[in-house]
Amino acid sequence: MDNINVPYRMQTNGKLLNELPIEYLNRIDRILISIDGNKEKTDSNRGEGTYNLVMKNVSLIREKGYIGEIIARMTIDLKSPDIYEQVLHLISIGFSSIHWQIDAGFYAYDYDKKKFSIFLKGYNASITKLVDFWVKDMQNKRVLKLYPFIGIVDSLLKNEKSLLRCGAGHSGYAIRTDGKIVACPIMTWIEDFFSGDLNSNPEDLKVFPIAERCINCEVNHICGGRCLYWSHLRLWPEEGDQLICKTIKHLIYELKNKVPEIKELIQKGIISSKNFEYEKYFGPEIIP
Ligand code: SF4
Repeated sequence: MDNINVPYRMQTNGKLLNELPIEYLNRIDRILISIDGNKEKTDSNRGEGTYNLVMKNVSLIREKGYIGEIIARMTIDLKSPDIYEQVLHLISIGFSSIHWQIDAGFYAYDYDKKKFSIFLKGYNASITKLVDFWVKDMQNKRVLKLYPFIGIVDSLLKNEKSLLRCGAGHSGYAIRTDGKIVACPIMTWIEDFFSGDLNSNPEDLKVFPIAERCINCEVNHICGGRCLYWSHLRLWPEEGDQLICKTIKHLIYELKNKVPEIKELIQKGIISSKNFEYEKYFGPEIIP
């Protein structure tokens, strides 16, 4: 960091954050910290004591004078469709920026139709409650940075079409330690996704189009295709992937239904359309 003057963002489990001197911390504008909700949930996913340690370090860096954005980065596992309760907990302990991703479709061995269908029902119901809460909360003249919500609503307000929302393979790339450039940081070993190397002109990096399965989808201009890794590897059977898409469509339609109310709040000056703008491609995938 002493020698490379670039904008810094960080994704971390938060366990060693206390070790970083404040002059380095404050060069990192945004820090994504893994925390999955309340103590019980976080510790059951990440080990006993994780929640307290992460929260202690979050308080500590704020006390030291960290002024950047701290984003809670949640993993939603199939045992916990209660996104509403978990997000509300994170808000109650001080987070106002939150992102989540559903742990689904990333491994070949873990598809279970019955389990995922039960999750889907609970998760979608919980998303409906969370969207209601989020829009009601705007009466307090604030827009909580729930990244999946602000990303989608920002596009709906601007009538903007989106490519893959994490930026993988069109606007965001990863550099391997050998200098090769790949479309996504979790696909570093997949040669089909090599996009260039450190000698490449950034404008010549290989660009990857939307996945075939998404071409005729009615929400593809808002969804963008969820995840390059997921759509390329197709680790779950098609019926499982379609169930994942049901969570995405539900989320998009619930937010779409709220757009007239949100526009009214903007017109009345209670909130601003600027409240939905965010830095793209630094970490949150937007589509969970
Ligand atoms: S909802 Fe599914 S099929 Fe539609 S664009 Fe998103 S990932 Fe593709």
